[in-house]
Amino acid sequence: MDNAIENFYRILRGMTSCEVTIHKDSLKINITDIQEFINELTLKILVKRENMLVIEEDKKTGTKKEIKKDYIMIQEDKKIGGKVAFKENIYKPEKTKEIIAYIMKSLLGKEKNQCILCGRTYEYKIKNLQQASYPMVTKISSLSGVRSYKDGIKLSLKDYYDNVCPLCYLLGILEWTDEGVIYRTFPGDFSLLFMPIFDNLKDLHNFKNYLIYAGLINKDSRYSNIRVHIDAEEVENTPGEYSTLLCFYEKFIENATNVNIAKKWAVIKIPFGAVKNIRIDSIDINEGILQIIKDLKEEGLVERVYTDLFKKIFFYSSQKKTIDWEITRGIQEKLSQLFLYNDFKSFVYYLLPRKGGYVSFFDRRYTQKYFEDLVYTWRWKKMGVPKEKLESIRSVGNIISKICESNVSLLYKMDKTRTIEEFWSVMREIARKLPNLKDKQLGKIRPSSLDEVIVLTKELVETNKDAWKEIRDLIVIYAAMYYSLSKIQKQKNGGD
Ligand SMILES: [Zn+2]
Repeated sequence: MDNAIENFYRILRGMTSCEVTIHKDSLKINITDIQEFINELTLKILVKRENMLVIEEDKKTGTKKEIKKDYIMIQEDKKIGGKVAFKENIYKPEKTKEIIAYIMKSLLGKEKNQCILCGRTYEYKIKNLQQASYPMVTKISSLSGVRSYKDGIKLSLKDYYDNVCPLCYLLGILEWTDEGVIYRTFPGDFSLLFMPIFDNLKDLHNFKNYLIYAGLINKDSRYSNIRVHIDAEEVENTPGEYSTLLCFYEKFIENATNVNIAKKWAVIKIPFGAVKNIRIDSIDINEGILQIIKDLKEEGLVERVYTDLFKKIFFYSSQKKTIDWEITRGIQEKLSQLFLYNDFKSFVYYLLPRKGGYVSFFDRRYTQKYFEDLVYTWRWKKMGVPKEKLESIRSVGNIISKICESNVSLLYKMDKTRTIEEFWSVMREIARKLPNLKDKQLGKIRPSSLDEVIVLTKELVETNKDAWKEIRDLIVIYAAMYYSLSKIQKQKNGGD
């Protein structure tokens, strides 16, 4: 609802027939000339209507035609002359003005009815409550009606579809024209609509206003509106919900201003097909993670976490002897999600080799460096331990990866340790297996690193008894990384 109010503010702003001001939790609208207001609003709506459309070329005839964006839940009539014809009267250019006049008359008329959404009184309704103006409504009355007892005995479901005031209708139906939200469509499957949430309407407005005017989004694109680069036509092709958000954040931070960044989002999932029961997720991003994205960028370590790093991670299927794109996109999405939720333990899990293949990197040299910079900035820095000590952990990860060349179970064993005793036990097992490595494998390995890590862990658990878990996760992530790197190397040399 807040997004719809904010969108309405941007529509009214600059009109001469009314004064509008935005406050923490309200809009104040003072209409000075009602007839002129109806005229101006009509024109504005017809301009905003364009935001719901994209232009595509017909593959057969080569002619250009309008297409309704896939997430918009307003029904459409057959196109006439390549133009979209919405079934909603307010979006029929010849009827817009009439509807606006009708809305104003009802709002200023007799106090006959009361709105279930806002409590305002009005004379007559425009339409029943429908998904087009309020997407949370479903066709199943048990989910959207209000339960009550008929005669005090039988349960009946009375729905309040009809008690919606013309203003709520107007705000809701206009929200589809909002160019300050993010969308991503997976053709034939579903669309995602990301609505930022703020406690304060003014912050919400500043954020959306920035999105629109900074050139971060391309409203003329059908399946995604996050631009690859500011002002570029090309848009991102992210694999899911969280990768889209992360991709958005890296762009936002790259063009950092002092605008408050949205940390909470309502994500509406709208399926393709006739019956549209939508799902709403609310996402609350860990604030510390946004700082990490900023630090990585400002220190010149990783420019773009998603594009330079997660997007460069792929899954190689040993059976198919090629990249498995479905699993790859699943992993890229999971890594984005777990990073945004600051869940390092689960993040590490998705990098482990698994049945049928292993995770690997494109642009190996750069990606490996970015990867290490991410691990350092995200996990190590906050522990307050000198960076050199991370070398020992890295080296133990390397030892495990070498041992795992013949059998990966040790890596899983380390990942699964749940107590510090189990952790020591796996460290002892590594020490026992070390002499079995061939001289060639031992090349760059520093066996003394095992002792260094043991000493370091003992030191750290004295002040924080859970610190060993961090060491465990770091060892596992380095082992997974070295394992992948050696696999790529072998593949290049002709092996699998
Ligand atoms: Zn209302």
